Amino acid sequence: MSTAITDIGELVTWEAEQPIRHDAALVVEDGRVAWVGPSADVPATDERVDAGGGTVIPGFVDSHTHLVFAGDRAAEFAARMAGERYAAGGIRTTVAATREAGADALEALGRKRLAELRAQGTTTVEVKSGYGLDTATEEALLRVAGRLTPETTFLGAHVVPQGWDADAYVDLVTGEMLARCAPLAKWVDVFCETGAFDADQSRAVLEAGMAAGLLPRIHANQLGYGPGVQLACELGAAAADHCTYLSNADVAALADTGVVAGLLPGVEFSTRHPYPDARHLLDAGVRIAIATDCNPGTSYTSSMPFCIALAVREMGLTPTEALRAATEGGARSLRRDDVGHLRVGARADLVLLDAPSHVHLAYRPGVPLVTRVLTA
Ligand SMILES: [Zn+2]
Repeated sequence: MSTAITDIGELVTWEAEQPIRHDAALVVEDGRVAWVGPSADVPATDERVDAGGGTVIPGFVDSHTHLVFAGDRAAEFAARMAGERYAAGGIRTTVAATREAGADALEALGRKRLAELRAQGTTTVEVKSGYGLDTATEEALLRVAGRLTPETTFLGAHVVPQGWDADAYVDLVTGEMLARCAPLAKWVDVFCETGAFDADQSRAVLEAGMAAGLLPRIHANQLGYGPGVQLACELGAAAADHCTYLSNADVAALADTGVVAGLLPGVEFSTRHPYPDARHLLDAGVRIAIATDCNPGTSYTSSMPFCIALAVREMGLTPTEALRAATEGGARSLRRDDVGHLRVGARADLVLLDAPSHVHLAYRPGVPLVTRVLTA
């Protein structure tokens, strides 16, 4: 089965020679990109889709979400907008609602949010646990996550649950909880932050996860300067996400090690924290990704186009750099080379935009430009 997508006004492939083509066509065969070239030269195929002169981009790769939870925290958001500060403890509110919900309700909520992401152009998504904070609920969350995506992350160490001593909880996370959750996850993550887990506790969580066969990633340097980024670089993590407060040594370590800095502009938007300087990171040679961090406390958006617009306006990126960070950057953050681009051989995960160029993603913020999403 082969399908040609023809009359593409602008085609973003991220090919080395010609990352963006005009008047182009693309052929999909058996779920993979089989041919890319000028519209006039398109080979014969079983089926044709007319892009109507619009733009085709790789599907977004959202490398950081917390899609599976119950309840919401609109009241907390409203209070924050009225002047209260965000502290890490708000997570416990969602934990209470999530523990009560039951697996079927959680799956229905996760699927609804996944459909919301998909409609806005996201075709690969990472999903974390972390709103259970007990063995049974963390395991249940990962089972649900595994029905939504192969990119599942064990985040038992999201915050210390009410009534627990931090070190005792780390023992649980690295012991019984990890044993039950590791078979259900690809990644291990920890919230390394004042009010959550310190450097030693975070290291213990990531090293135990790695010993159980999981790959490390980390929530780092969100609310202030801290040890998270250095820990990620030392352990060879795929990604250090947030990176809102970085020292010069942190930036140098990210550039040297190739650890991807995951930028989550929805968080700064929704907490009124300062945005990290993505321009400075790129200029220093750091690899970056943009993700939504979709979660009920600090970034309840499922929209990668919204995050791209914020990254352009507030973090100093060009529209092209932001799109690359939201596609190829996300793929690198998940150590995937089959998504995030449309070179020959890629998974045929692609998005049609009702726009003459990808620049419109940032130029027309909040406008639903995605008209069609095709997946392999
Ligand atoms: Zn997060």
